[in-house]
Amino acid sequence: MPPFDLPEGDPFGTHNLPYGVFSLPGSDPARRVGVRLGDHVLDVGKAAYALGSPYAPLLAQGSLNPLLAAGRTAWSDVRRALTAWVTVPAHQEAVADLFHPLSAVTLHLPFEVADYVDFYASENHARNVGQIFRPDAADSLTPNWKHLPIGYHGRSGTVVVSGTDVVRPSGQRKAPADPAPVFGPSVRLDIEAEVGFVVGVPSRMGEPVALGDFREHVFGLCLLNDWSARDIQAWEYVPLGPFLGKSFATSVSAWITPLDALDEARVAPPERTHPLLPYLDDSGSGTEPGGYDLRISVAINGHVVSEPPFSTMYWTAAQQLAHMTVNGASLRTGDLYGSGTVSGPTERERGSLLELTWNGRDPLELPDGKRTFLEDGDVVTLSAWAPGPGGVRVGLGEVTGRVVSSS
Ligand code: CA
Repeated sequence: MPPFDLPEGDPFGTHNLPYGVFSLPGSDPARRVGVRLGDHVLDVGKAAYALGSPYAPLLAQGSLNPLLAAGRTAWSDVRRALTAWVTVPAHQEAVADLFHPLSAVTLHLPFEVADYVDFYASENHARNVGQIFRPDAADSLTPNWKHLPIGYHGRSGTVVVSGTDVVRPSGQRKAPADPAPVFGPSVRLDIEAEVGFVVGVPSRMGEPVALGDFREHVFGLCLLNDWSARDIQAWEYVPLGPFLGKSFATSVSAWITPLDALDEARVAPPERTHPLLPYLDDSGSGTEPGGYDLRISVAINGHVVSEPPFSTMYWTAAQQLAHMTVNGASLRTGDLYGSGTVSGPTERERGSLLELTWNGRDPLELPDGKRTFLEDGDVVTLSAWAPGPGGVRVGLGEVTGRVVSSS
């Protein structure tokens, strides 16, 4: 049965309509673009052809990339059409047979990831990390932190879809007291609860993208888990930053929520405490406010350990986009950038085990035992919702992954 009679307030109702890519079991393994409604997925390419949509060639694809590249007018037109298909009775009839239960499909990485960048935009996270690793420093923030959104280039080829197992990485580590580095599986495997932004429209090399053009380039967002091996990271990161401690896997949700589904969740970022250079200054009228009220939840083996609030992020996605292109670096369709670990001001709002256990000093009490860092077999799930129209929630697709032994 097509899911046209969803319970009132379903977070994946007709107000949401996130995009993904799925395949069916059996003889037809082709990947198709799908849109989620309740616990079903609509075969959007087939629906578009059934209803004579001019966008059918963009949608009857095995990846979201053609739609991503098509730009804002197409994004808005397609979303308007989709809304009609699932709400207007005559259209509902035409697409009713094109839904599949989520339980009967396989979800895939929904777009081809081009470049991957990860930021560090939560002031609470940055201060916690500063206090843990530089306890003697006068300021827990580095001198540049309030002047630019700090980021690094990650490894796009190891971005995986929710549900993919994560093999515990091996590498070098050396605690300060150790006489020499040792090699082996990480003993401090961690998560970072983040939001990922998906670029649709590319830009030309040499031409920075202005703050106000954020919505022309960015299609939507997803949840992102930046798996992190703290012991490998701690030994390797000076002076060039994260490398093998991060590059083994980054998980993203199977559903990309279009920015157009999140209009009611837009919020102003926290007050700026330092003046910003013009290309980052979002205080004036006509600039992109760029903050989003997303309520994230972090669960280990089904037990919620933290609820990081995305609205507390100091740097916005629009500022991050402006910063990563201000030197003339170009955008490509499928570029993905992570917000950085989302941590709120209280202990139960921290987005990493590093912070939740204060670098292992204060273990978490879980129903299945104590945790400092992740154990083999642990399943980490990030989920989130945002305020939607009329008080209804907009659900974000979860991102989950299980840690498996390296042997
Ligand atoms: Ca990160």
